[in-house]
Amino acid sequence: MMSKMPLLRLQQVSRRFVMGEVTVQALKETSLEIYPGELLVILGPSGSGKSTLLNIIGGMDAPSTGDLFFAGENLSRANEARLTRYRREQVGFVFQFYNLISDLTARENVELAAHLVTDPLPVDEVLREVGLINRQHHFPSQLSGGEQQRVAIARAAVKKPQLLLCDEPTGALDQQTGRRILDLLSRINRRYGSTVVIVTHNTVIGRLAQRTVRMGSGSILEIAVNPSPLPPERIDW
Ligand code: ADP
Ligand code: MG
Repeated sequence: MMSKMPLLRLQQVSRRFVMGEVTVQALKETSLEIYPGELLVILGPSGSGKSTLLNIIGGMDAPSTGDLFFAGENLSRANEARLTRYRREQVGFVFQFYNLISDLTARENVELAAHLVTDPLPVDEVLREVGLINRQHHFPSQLSGGEQQRVAIARAAVKKPQLLLCDEPTGALDQQTGRRILDLLSRINRRYGSTVVIVTHNTVIGRLAQRTVRMGSGSILEIAVNPSPLPPERIDW
């Protein structure tokens, strides 16, 4: 895997937030390569820069300094139109609190995402994959947290994104439901070959990954290869 060309490469990327007199260095000069098809978990305590890093990877935020390459293309030099296309076509994003559209049904939320790309997966297939075909006509408010998160994953996965980025996807869920979400993410990784990046403060989730990145105070402290990733059902927290 490591000998392949990286799908994504961050080169000395930093991000500062300036608020009046105060500057927060959310991400110090950080370099990282993410390989096609891998499942990577980014770990670190709250405030360590995980979301900042993920937002930059997903083209939702721009680095203050440094470069971001996707399939060899320097996205930190790209214009807004190219970045929009990157977010729309190459990236699927899953948030801790789902961010579904409340007046669309589960199915309509997924269909809306499918319309954004030229070659989506069939909506029925994805709804079946996430186990929600029977709840497809329900609105988010009629679904449990775990079900809403599965809709959010279906919405991201239907685009067949090369990169599936998940920010604390199990953070609002109980352990059993969280495990089901992790199982779904690892199935999408294997079945569709999407590169999956999961950000979490929960270190045991790292046992699922092929590689883990540990962050602290805006820096990568360690990158570790996991020779035998565990299946989600064997992970306890
Ligand atoms: P994590 O996701 O690991 O909890 P974040 O990336 O959200 O950490 O935040 C890293 C640091 O950057 C924190 O100190 C946070 O307060 C700060 N930060 C993040 N986003 C912003 C923002 N939009 N404006 C100001 N400070 C921010
Ligand atoms: Mg965060």
